[in-house]
Amino acid sequence: MSDVEIRDLHKCFGKLEVLRGIDFTVESGQVVCVIGPSGSGKSTLLRCVNLLERPTSGKVLVDGVELTDPDVDIDAARRRVGMVFQQFNLFPHLTALRNVTIAQERVLRRGRAEAESVARTELARVGLADKADAYPAQLSGGQQQRVAIARALAMNPALMLFDEPTSALDPELVGDVLTVMRQLAEEGMTMLVVTHEMAFAREVADRVVFMDGGTIVEEGPPGQVIGAPRHERTRTFLRRVL
Ligand code: ADP
Ligand code: MG
Repeated sequence: MSDVEIRDLHKCFGKLEVLRGIDFTVESGQVVCVIGPSGSGKSTLLRCVNLLERPTSGKVLVDGVELTDPDVDIDAARRRVGMVFQQFNLFPHLTALRNVTIAQERVLRRGRAEAESVARTELARVGLADKADAYPAQLSGGQQQRVAIARALAMNPALMLFDEPTSALDPELVGDVLTVMRQLAEEGMTMLVVTHEMAFAREVADRVVFMDGGTIVEEGPPGQVIGAPRHERTRTFLRRVL
């Protein structure tokens, strides 16, 4: 059984068709990287997978549960999917620890002690055991993004979505975040990652999907899509980013 299955997904904003029939699967424990030019629909795709956007048509299944089924409990479905954005969106007035406990308490109804215990475990997992009491302003961008990853992991997601998680970071801070993501991949987390980090995609992805104009132009192992692309549009894009 595949962890994520996207079937003929379409998304329109008014007359603008941003996703024009997207099909792919992410097998349990695999990492799929989505690459493509700005405006090709990558963020909209991720937002449809966790129902931040309602697809116009098509299906999204996670662990065999159809999230797009109108009868499905959206909140329960969404809880199965963790998301990390380009902007970390931490609460500035809360410590790192509290940023990681708050959704656990409010959404999962965990008690304070359990939420804090989980938060400390997840902060340690992203290399921030000693920053639990720091406020976001006292942390580097890379550290804040790792808190955001810990916050998502604390909800026990079946799947993690990353939307250009390193694009807002100073270059010297990108490596720490990618290291955490690489480690998650090695631990068997199922991940769908939008990224411009081609070296990361080549090394970590099981498959790479190249999107342009709301469609998948080509997909396959990274050595093929990045190393020996078949389509001119893919080659043009790679020439610009590599
Ligand atoms: P990418 O992440 O690949 O850069 P996006 O998914 O953000 O692409 O956007 C794809 C297209 O959809 C763009 O033309 C964008 O302007 C449009 N779009 C995205 N979100 C909305 C929205 N909420 N309303 C209208 N148009 C949108
Ligand atoms: Mg985007």
